[in-house]
Amino acid sequence: MQTQNLGYPRIGSRRELKKASEAYWAGKIPVAELEKTGREIRLKNWKSQQESGIDLIPCNDFSFYDQVLDMSVLLGAIPERYAGFARTHSGTDLYFAMARGYQKGDFDLTAMEMTKWFDTNYHYIVPEFKAGQTFELNPAKLLSELQEAREAGIQAKPVIIGPVTYLLLGKEKETGFHRVELLSRLLPVYEQLLKLLAEQGVQYVQIDEPALALDLTPAEQEAIARTYTFFAEAVPSLKIILANYFECYGDNLQTAIHLPVDTLHLDLVRCPLQLEDILATDFVQKKTRLSLGVVDGRNIWKNDFEASLQLIEQAKAALGAERLLIAPSCSLLHSPCDLDFEKKLNPEIKNWMAFARQKTDEVAFLRKWASGERSEALKAVWEANRQAIESKKTSPLIHDPAVKDRVEQVTEKDTRRNSPFAARRKQQQEVLALPLFPTTTIGSFPQTPEVRSWRARLKKGELTQEEYDRLIEQETADAIHWQEEIDMDVLVHGEFERNDMVEYFGEKLQGFVFTENGWVQSYGSRCVKPPVIFGDISRPEPMTLRWTKYAQSLTPKWVKGMLTGPVTILQWSFVRNDQPRRDTCMQIALAIRDEVTDLEKAGIRIIQIDEPAIREGLPLRKENRRTYLDWAVRAFRVSASGVEDATQIHTHMCYSEFNDIIQSISDMDADVITIECSRSQMELLDAFHKFAYPNEIGPGVYDIHSPRVPSEEEMVGLMEKARKVIPDEQLWVNPDCGLKTRHWEETRLALEKMVSAAKKLRTV
Ligand code: GLN
Ligand code: ZN
Repeated sequence: MQTQNLGYPRIGSRRELKKASEAYWAGKIPVAELEKTGREIRLKNWKSQQESGIDLIPCNDFSFYDQVLDMSVLLGAIPERYAGFARTHSGTDLYFAMARGYQKGDFDLTAMEMTKWFDTNYHYIVPEFKAGQTFELNPAKLLSELQEAREAGIQAKPVIIGPVTYLLLGKEKETGFHRVELLSRLLPVYEQLLKLLAEQGVQYVQIDEPALALDLTPAEQEAIARTYTFFAEAVPSLKIILANYFECYGDNLQTAIHLPVDTLHLDLVRCPLQLEDILATDFVQKKTRLSLGVVDGRNIWKNDFEASLQLIEQAKAALGAERLLIAPSCSLLHSPCDLDFEKKLNPEIKNWMAFARQKTDEVAFLRKWASGERSEALKAVWEANRQAIESKKTSPLIHDPAVKDRVEQVTEKDTRRNSPFAARRKQQQEVLALPLFPTTTIGSFPQTPEVRSWRARLKKGELTQEEYDRLIEQETADAIHWQEEIDMDVLVHGEFERNDMVEYFGEKLQGFVFTENGWVQSYGSRCVKPPVIFGDISRPEPMTLRWTKYAQSLTPKWVKGMLTGPVTILQWSFVRNDQPRRDTCMQIALAIRDEVTDLEKAGIRIIQIDEPAIREGLPLRKENRRTYLDWAVRAFRVSASGVEDATQIHTHMCYSEFNDIIQSISDMDADVITIECSRSQMELLDAFHKFAYPNEIGPGVYDIHSPRVPSEEEMVGLMEKARKVIPDEQLWVNPDCGLKTRHWEETRLALEKMVSAAKKLRTV
């Protein structure tokens, strides 16, 4: 039985890579220093995995920005617009120009697109293909990392993305062809690479084909079969470990088990039942090995050794130990680095957790234990694990019977407003008395360095809570008065008191903890530190009431209450694994519901519940989507339905495709939805139009990602487009998203123009 790892976090346990890359981009350090940081991180990662006892340690899992971008460079798929730049700049600068764009001197190069990696919060750089696309091997990075590992005494296993997944992840930039047709051009380049690796004496190569976690067409399945048959014939000496993760093989199982590869990897965390499926096929008679991904690469919980061992024993009984590898479920890229850096966590909760460093230890332990090794030290590890798992099952820190009861008692009525939209709307119109094309914003106003410095000083004890509150009050009051001045219709308090839309609520809710260093890469140098939901969730006291009430007290105009929705809070946290996600989501929903009704009691008549993450929670396989959408919509409805008909509930979503979930969006039954729309020039509205979306809708009229101030005509133009497909009475006027990352100067100008654009619309 061997152990392997599929990939290790590359940001460094102190986010060294982030700091070095940003310093390099700012021209503060030379490239040599950036490279040195990369080498140090790789070396540390390799050594740590070696010490844990991992046999097959990955290399080329390191990346200065993104592993898919690395593949585009490796395969020579560099979009044409960078050709001039490539002639005059280093490979490193070209690489970063592709990732981030480049505007300086003679160059004005846009970045390649970025999108989410399967159902994770990691973003990859989307490969671009044209009809006559050619490929050319450029193996320098991979070979040098391989060599580097050897010098460190490690016979590393190179990791690459498989050709079918690579093509599917990309996008055609011309019409008239489908990217999978490029496979025959791509395979010779892969062949060249694999031969090169074989010549170098490489024994194992890991090829990731997570496209196998998706619903593939027969042609795509055939492409997979053709690819691996070709590799086996072209480079018979190389042992291919084929990795699929984030889902089971599903309908691709027959394709997968017949591939002539050395090893097939299974994500047994997401999909433990697939082991039984595989063992029921003629896979058993073959020689292919099975890599059992039993340690969760996507979450921060300790492995349950007993449960993992059951799976391992089951596989062992059918295949024998020699045909097994023990592994994490997927690359540990999605885990934080090292739990040992957490000094402030409650020790009981910390004892339930494992980060990447600890997970490789778990993998190694499981192999030993499953192989029958039993030293005193191993027995102690086993016993400690058993106790940790047991304490997590029973700890009063986690289990709050009142919360569980309340979830059980949620009725159909709790998921419904008193009256249907049409009736609510009449009442709302009476109470709110808003003009046609009402103007509003999405919630946050600029978080200036000053505002952020107050929070930092409060944390350090340099400001008292009172002093801090006064400052936030002043900032809020300024924002309210300014909105009144420019004649905005529905005001917001500005969210100055919030660091982050999820963290703010997590900090106020029971059942959450925060790590000091639990960073994971989101994209490039950007890292996120998701809150950890460890236990039953409740709301000890109101979370936003104070600030909303204060803002409302300053103005006779309506101030919109601003909350983050249950699905988004769930989606952007590390979630407990001892109960279904839907139950955790419902607990959050009930806490938000209480906040909503408290706001209403305090006289707030417009309340927005943001759900920007609802779309990204969508399961990879179509067959699982219905169930997810049902519970996600139900949770939202529970959070929103405690109010009177006359109280108007808004929701907000951004940066998603709506076509395939429009029914569910409609089922959420928010009175008003605001969406990001300007980048697509209102194309996203088509889904709402085709569906004849009945409730009110605010299509974003300007992109908040750019400091550019749009003109009044531009915004009127976009709204005119919207009016063609949505009746006037249903339309609101607002920006695409929150303005947190903008400066005040451009925000002021843009919103003044937005208000005058709305006024213009009212006259014609
Ligand atoms: N209310 C939030 C804000 O304005 C919404 C942010 C989001 O959609 N990501 O910042
Ligand atoms: Zn948004």
